Amino acid sequence: MLSIDVLTLFPNMLSGFVSESMIGRAQKNGLVQVTAHQLRNWATDKWSITDDRPFGGGAGMLLKPEPLFSAIEELKRPETVAVYLTPDGEPLSTPLVREFAQEKHLLLVSGHYEGIDQRVRDCLIDREVSIGDYVLTNGTLPAAVMIDAVCRYVPGVLGEEKSLTQDSFSDKLLGFPQYTRPVEYRGMRVPDILLSGDHAKIESWRQERRLEKTQQRRPDLLPPISDQ
Ligand code: SAM
Repeated sequence: MLSIDVLTLFPNMLSGFVSESMIGRAQKNGLVQVTAHQLRNWATDKWSITDDRPFGGGAGMLLKPEPLFSAIEELKRPETVAVYLTPDGEPLSTPLVREFAQEKHLLLVSGHYEGIDQRVRDCLIDREVSIGDYVLTNGTLPAAVMIDAVCRYVPGVLGEEKSLTQDSFSDKLLGFPQYTRPVEYRGMRVPDILLSGDHAKIESWRQERRLEKTQQRRPDLLPPISDQ
């Protein structure tokens, strides 16, 4: 079972998300376990303060080292991979998600304000991950994104494991167009090939559409022309 702890100032942001849909079902089936922890529980002053002004001046506040050190040291186990969600981290990608899905325990650290004290990053964080080139107000949604992406690769979480090999990015290509009933809707007809029952032809039609879409939208995913 993959166990995931999330350290955040906003545990309620996760509660609905982790109890719904695929992640909720995966938890009920004992495939993954997600627990959100309130960082303030490790603050030691009577106001439960977790932030302070940055040395050197500048805008905003930073999460202080003491509550983070205490919390991470308490939650970390020998097999833990501690991940700080941060815009300046390694971009989250399918290979990275697959790698995290092999782990036994992930500890996801969510920042707030201007982020967290650098000493926490230097001493206790194993990996730093970004969910994209934009900045959110705190790391709880990035943690949720990472949980969702990683859990899809835990065996048994998806009903249909085949989709893992056909989805966008699974093999450097984007996904193919999909249709369901009715065959004709508002004058738009499902491509005849999909109704033919010829699985080999359908497969090659899908691969062609994937390649076409990738060339149009994400040519950066394709190998250089000389290698194709
Ligand atoms: N000062 C930071 C910087 O320039 O990189 C941005 C801090 S951001 C306002 C506050 C917190 O939100 C971060 O500590 C991080 O946990 C989270 N966060 C924001 N954008 C993110 C992203 N694209 N990927 C992962 N985490 C993000």
